[in-house]
Amino acid sequence: MIPSVLPTYNRAPLSFVKGEGSWLIEADGRRFLDFGAGIAVNALGHAHPALVEALSTQAGQLWHVSNLYQIPQQQQLADTLVENTFADTVFFTNSGTESCELAVKMARKYWHDKGQPNRTEIITFEGSFHGRSSAGIAAAGSEKMTKGFGPLLPGFTQLQFADHDAVEAAVDAHTAAILIEPIQGEGGIRPLSDACLKGLRDLCDATGTLLIFDEVQCGVARTGKLFAHEWAGVAPDIMMIAKGIGGGFPLGAVLATEDAASGMTAGTHGSTYGGNPLGCAVGNAVLKIVSEPAFLGEVNRKAGLLRQKLEGLIAAHADVFDSIRGEGLMLGLKCKATNIDIVQAGYSQGLLTVPAADNVIRLLPALTITDDEIAQAVGMLDKAATHLVKDAA
Ligand SMILES: *Cc1c(COP(=O)(O)O)cnc(C)c1O
Repeated sequence: MIPSVLPTYNRAPLSFVKGEGSWLIEADGRRFLDFGAGIAVNALGHAHPALVEALSTQAGQLWHVSNLYQIPQQQQLADTLVENTFADTVFFTNSGTESCELAVKMARKYWHDKGQPNRTEIITFEGSFHGRSSAGIAAAGSEKMTKGFGPLLPGFTQLQFADHDAVEAAVDAHTAAILIEPIQGEGGIRPLSDACLKGLRDLCDATGTLLIFDEVQCGVARTGKLFAHEWAGVAPDIMMIAKGIGGGFPLGAVLATEDAASGMTAGTHGSTYGGNPLGCAVGNAVLKIVSEPAFLGEVNRKAGLLRQKLEGLIAAHADVFDSIRGEGLMLGLKCKATNIDIVQAGYSQGLLTVPAADNVIRLLPALTITDDEIAQAVGMLDKAATHLVKDAA
């Protein structure tokens, strides 16, 4: 008999009743150090006082009015995002997938309105993840995500990751946009080099092609800059965000330059919930904290500490771990042992990590993680690796 919850997930046999900062607690009191943060969502950990305050105050006043009316919390969040980024304008969604939908629509509408309606093709990359809608799976293009769901939304071309010659050859009179994650998340924490990002920007400038960054996972201070592309010093024309911006409340957005957004006039797009007062009240509270230079400085300092300890871990367990990649507190441990086995061995030690493609485990702690918790997590990984090897022998 089919379970009452559609069985599309492989869930771990863990169930939490409470969260406190970087810790999740089961009903029997067992505590887990959370290095997954709900897949880079709980940017400020669990039950952060400022977010609890923002949500509960707003909950007592007004939850939802629809976008038929002015929403001051939404206006404030858009203003702050515009002040702090390349963008001139923002549309609010409830998820990364919805942000992908709008980014694709915006790029196509741009060329339609510029009198080049044949420029509809979106170039994407192998290993990417942009959500599970029809556009999202067509964008990723992998068999794992698309098989059985045809006919796929047309107009997406997948190229090899970081193959600049292939991109140069692929951009032609039909290309609307290049869509890329500056650091692939689901694909296994694969960062695109600064030189690659610069190369894409130059190519887009030379051909008019729109550059779309998917920062749903790597954005919102995760890498130690407010947005990951800032490390390379290149800006997109359109950017998708979600995950961290809501700190656990479902919230996403598409940020764009005035030119890239020029086709999106009244009536061309909408969302019932997107940007509602509850979500935006939380988003404002998250952004206020994570955009502080001192907060970003701490993320970078702690990232350095975590990376240094992980180097030691790899040296001590060269048979289990291979290497580290990523930026800031978005780190991937490329494994020699099977990543799923290490994640499960971590559960036994009280540590939560997240597997990704390419035999990687993701370390995505709350950005508020403490030095002591970093040391504890690496200690748990050390024990997990030791047990794994013993059990295998
Ligand atoms: C999670 C993710 C998405 C999809 O976001 P949802 O909120 O799950 O719809 C899209 N792109 C990237 C890079 C992601 O990590």
